[in-house]
Amino acid sequence: MSSLINRRDLDFLLFEYLEADALTAFNRYADHDRATFDAVIDAAEQLAVDQFQSHAAKLDANEPHFDGERVHIIPEVKAAVDAYIDGGFLGMAFDAEDGGLQLPYTIAQACASLFSAANIGTAGYAFLTGAAANMLRIVGSDEQKQRYMRPMIEGRFFGTMCLSEPQAGSSLGDIKTRAIPQPDGSYHLVGTKMWISGGEHDLSENIVHMVLAKIDAPDTPPGTKGISLFVVPKFMVNDDGSLGARNGVRLAGLNHKMGYRGTVNTVLNFGESEDCVGYLVGTANKGLAGMFHMMNEARIGVGMGAAVLGYAGYQVALDYAKNRPQGRPAADKNPTSKPVAIIEHADIRRLLLAQKAAVEGAYGLCLYCARLVDTVDAGGDADAIAHARLLLEILTPIAKSWPSEFCLEANKHAIQVLGGYGYTRDYPVERLYRDNRLNPIHEGTHGIQGMDLLGRKVLMQDGAAFKLLVATITETVERHAGDDTLGEFAASLCEALAAAGSTTQTLVGAAMSGQLDRFLANATIYLDMLGHIVLAWQWLEQAGVALRNRANAPDADRAFYDGKLTACRYFFRYELPKIHTQCALLKQLDDTTLTVDPAGL
Ligand SMILES: Cc1cc2nc3c(=O)[nH]c(=O)nc-3n(C[C@H](O)[C@H](O)[C@H](O)COP(=O)(O)OP(=O)(O)OC[C@H]3O[C@@H](n4cnc5c(N)ncnc54)[C@H](O)[C@@H]3O)c2cc1C
Repeated sequence: MSSLINRRDLDFLLFEYLEADALTAFNRYADHDRATFDAVIDAAEQLAVDQFQSHAAKLDANEPHFDGERVHIIPEVKAAVDAYIDGGFLGMAFDAEDGGLQLPYTIAQACASLFSAANIGTAGYAFLTGAAANMLRIVGSDEQKQRYMRPMIEGRFFGTMCLSEPQAGSSLGDIKTRAIPQPDGSYHLVGTKMWISGGEHDLSENIVHMVLAKIDAPDTPPGTKGISLFVVPKFMVNDDGSLGARNGVRLAGLNHKMGYRGTVNTVLNFGESEDCVGYLVGTANKGLAGMFHMMNEARIGVGMGAAVLGYAGYQVALDYAKNRPQGRPAADKNPTSKPVAIIEHADIRRLLLAQKAAVEGAYGLCLYCARLVDTVDAGGDADAIAHARLLLEILTPIAKSWPSEFCLEANKHAIQVLGGYGYTRDYPVERLYRDNRLNPIHEGTHGIQGMDLLGRKVLMQDGAAFKLLVATITETVERHAGDDTLGEFAASLCEALAAAGSTTQTLVGAAMSGQLDRFLANATIYLDMLGHIVLAWQWLEQAGVALRNRANAPDADRAFYDGKLTACRYFFRYELPKIHTQCALLKQLDDTTLTVDPAGL
C-alpha cells in the first residue's frame, strides 16, 4: 500500500511555508501548540490508512444499493465513520462551546485531506455533515443550532445539501421546490431534489437536509432573489432532542456513478404523498446568500479533495516507476544489457514532474486559502481580516477549479506511468481518476466557476480583489527578483502578470461597452490562465522557502528541497508559458464559440 501523501511535504507546507503554528498566538487557538497539531495529524493519518484506505477498493466495487425499502452500504463504512466521529474529527474546527475542538481550519483541512486521499467515498458522509453543521452555525437560530447542529457535530445526525433539481443544477434560480407556509410558522415542502449525496442511509440516527426552496407566496421574487433555505429532518426532533415521527422526505431512487461510488447519491421526493415539514433558516428569500457562506469553504474543500486524489495517484505512480524494469536508456543500443527501472526514462520523469508540480502546487494553494480562512476567523487586525476576505473572494473559484481540472490531468498521467496495468482495477489509479472526475462538475461546474471569476470576482468593488491579487503576487516577485536561482522565475511571473493585467483590461472594457457575450465567451480560458499564474506564484513561494531552508538542512533532507526547486522549474518552463497563447486569444475577444452555427456542430 503506497502512502497517501508525502507527510514530509504536508509538514513543509503547513509549518515551513504557511507557518500554521503561528496561529497559536491568537486567543482562539491559544489552547493548542505545534505538538497538538502534529498529534492530531498523526492520528488522522493512522485512521485514514487503517480504516478508510483499507476498504476503498471494496466500496468502489460494491456501491450502495436500494432494495426498495432500505439502502445497503458495506459495513466497513459505518465502522470507519464511527471511528472518525469517536476521534473528534467531525468537530475539529467547530467552537469548543459547540462541542468542537476549535482547531485552526488549516489543520482541520490538512486532516480532512488525508481521509479524502484514503477513501473519498466514505469521507464524503462526514464532510457533508460538517458542511451542513457549518451552515447552521453561520445562519441558523439558537434553537436550530441546539436541535440540529449539535447532534451533527456529535455525529449522531448526518447532513445533506439539497440544492439541485432534475431541471436546475447550474441555474438555481429555476428551482421548483415550493415551501407552503403553515399557521404554526413551519412550512410544508413539495418538490424533487436530484443528485443529493448522503440523502438516505442508516449510518446515523437521523439525516438533516438543508434544502433550497421558494416560498409559495405572491411576493416571492422570481429567480435567485426568491430562494429560501430550510432545514428538513428525516425524523422530526422533539423538544427534548429525542426523535419523533418520520417526516415526508422519501427516497425516489439512487444514481449510479462513474466514481465517488461509496457516497450514496439520491433522488429525493419532498411531500409527495405525506406532509414534509421544514423550518426556515435565516431570512426568507435570502437562502442563497446563506448557502454561499458555506459554499465558499466547501469549494476550497472540493479543490483540496481534487488535489489529494491527484496526490494519491502520484504516490502510486512514483512507487511503480521506481520498481518497474522496462527498456534501456536511449543511448544504450546493447539488447542484452539489463533493463532499467522506468523512472530512468526522461518521458516518465516528465509525467512524474507534471504530477508533482500539479498536486503539490494545488495542495499548497488550498492550504494557503485555508490559512486565509483562519486569518478571518481568528479575529486579529481588522485590515488583515479585510485583506484575507478579499483575497479569498478571488482565489476561491481558482482553488476549486484549478485542482479539479489539472490534478485530474495528474491522475491521467499516473495511469500512463503504469501503462496497461494502470488501466486495470489491480491498481488504484483508475479509481482515483474516476473519483476525481466529479470535481469539475459539482459545487459549480468548471464553466460556472469561470464566469464567477471573470463576471463577478474580477469586477467586484471596482476591481479591488483583482488588484489585491496582483499586488500580493508582485510582492513575491519583488522578493525574488535579484535571486541567482529564482530570479529567472520571478521575471517570468512578472511578464505573465503584465499579460494578465492588459488582458483583463481589454475584457473589462468589452463588458463596460455592453459586449457581455464576448466578455464571458471565453471565461473558462480566463480561469485556466489566471489559475496557472496563481499556481506559478505558489511555486515561487514554495521554492523560496525550500531554497532558504535547504541551506541548513541535514543531508538527508536536501533531496526533498531539491525536488521542490525542480518542480518549480518544471512549472515555470513547461506550464506558465501557455498563458501567453491564452492571453492573445482572450485579448482578441474571439467570437468563434459565440458565432458557430449549432447546425454545424
Ligand atoms: C456525484 C454528484 C454528487 C452531487 N451532490 C450534490 C449534492 O449533494 N447536493 C446538490 O444539491 N447537488 C449535488 N450535485 C449536483 C451538481 O452540483 C450539479 O450536477 C452541477 O451543479 C451541474 O448541474 P447539472 O448537472 O444540472 O448540469 P447543467 O447545469 O445542466 O450543466 C450542463 C453543462 O452546461 C454548462 N452550463 C450550464 N449553464 C451554463 C451557462 N449559463 N453558461 C455556460 N455554461 C453553462 C455547465 O457548465 C455544464 O458543463 C451532485 C452531482 C453529482 C454528479
